[in-house]
Amino acid sequence: MKSKNQKIIIGNWKMNPASLKEAEKILKNISNSLSVKKSKVVVCPPYVFLEKISKVSKKINLGAQDVYPNNLGLPTGEISIEMLSNLKTKYVILGHSERRSRGEDNLFINKKVKTVLSAFLVPVLCVGENERDEEHSYLGFVKKQLEECLEGIPKDLVGSIIIAYEPVWAIGKNAKREAEPEEFEEMSIFIKKVLSDKFGSKNIEGINIIYGGSVNPKNALSFVKAGADGLLVGRDSLNPEKFLEIIKIIENEIN
Ligand code: PEP
Repeated sequence: MKSKNQKIIIGNWKMNPASLKEAEKILKNISNSLSVKKSKVVVCPPYVFLEKISKVSKKINLGAQDVYPNNLGLPTGEISIEMLSNLKTKYVILGHSERRSRGEDNLFINKKVKTVLSAFLVPVLCVGENERDEEHSYLGFVKKQLEECLEGIPKDLVGSIIIAYEPVWAIGKNAKREAEPEEFEEMSIFIKKVLSDKFGSKNIEGINIIYGGSVNPKNALSFVKAGADGLLVGRDSLNPEKFLEIIKIIENEIN
C-alpha cells in the first residue's frame, strides 16, 4: 500500500551475476553504504541466490523475477509461490517484457498475479508498449495488458499491486532512446484512469505506479518529479555505486 512520501526502488538483476560470491559482494556493497529513511529498496536476484543473499542484509527487501502459477508439483524447471514464501521473498516481478517476448501472454500473467496475491506477496506487474505511434494506439495496448492481467482480481486487493510502466523501446543497452518524464506522466495518468474505471477510484488509491527503462543517476529524479512512486532499475542495479546514487537522489528529494 502507498504511503504518501515513500518511494520504492527495485533492482532487477536479470540473469546476473555468474556466482553467489559476486552476488553477495554486490549486495554487501549496496547495503554497507545504504541509508534510507523513506525509500524502500528491493533487489530481485536470480532464484538460485535468493536464500543465501537473504542473510546478507536486513536493510534490503528481496524479490523474485518471476513465479510459476501452479502450486507444488509440476512442471519441471519452475519455481512455486510456496518456495518463494518460505525464502521470505516479499515481491515478485511479473510480465517483464523479456518474458512476454518469449511467449508469455496476459492470461498466463493474470494467473501469476492471482498466485502471488493468494500468498500475500506483492506483485510487480510490468506493462508497456513495444513502440510508440502517432495515432496513440500504444495506449490501447497498455489498457489491454492492464485489463487482462488484472481480470478477476478482488477489488480490495488491487491496491497492494505495484504497476511498473516499462516502455519496451526504452529498456536495456539497445534501447531506441530514453523515455521523457512527460511520457511517463501521461502514461501514469492513463493507467490510473484504466484502473479506476475497472476497480473504482477508492480501491486504487494505494496502487504504486513506478517507472522502469534505462533508469540511471542522471534521469532518476526526473521520473519521480513526474509523479513516479518509484523506479525499476535494470543494469544500474548491478553497479552498487550507481544504484546507491539513484537511491540517494530519491531520498534527498522526498526528505
Ligand atoms: C528492466 O529490464 O526492467 C530494466 C528496466 O532494464 P534497464 O534499466 O537496464 O533498461
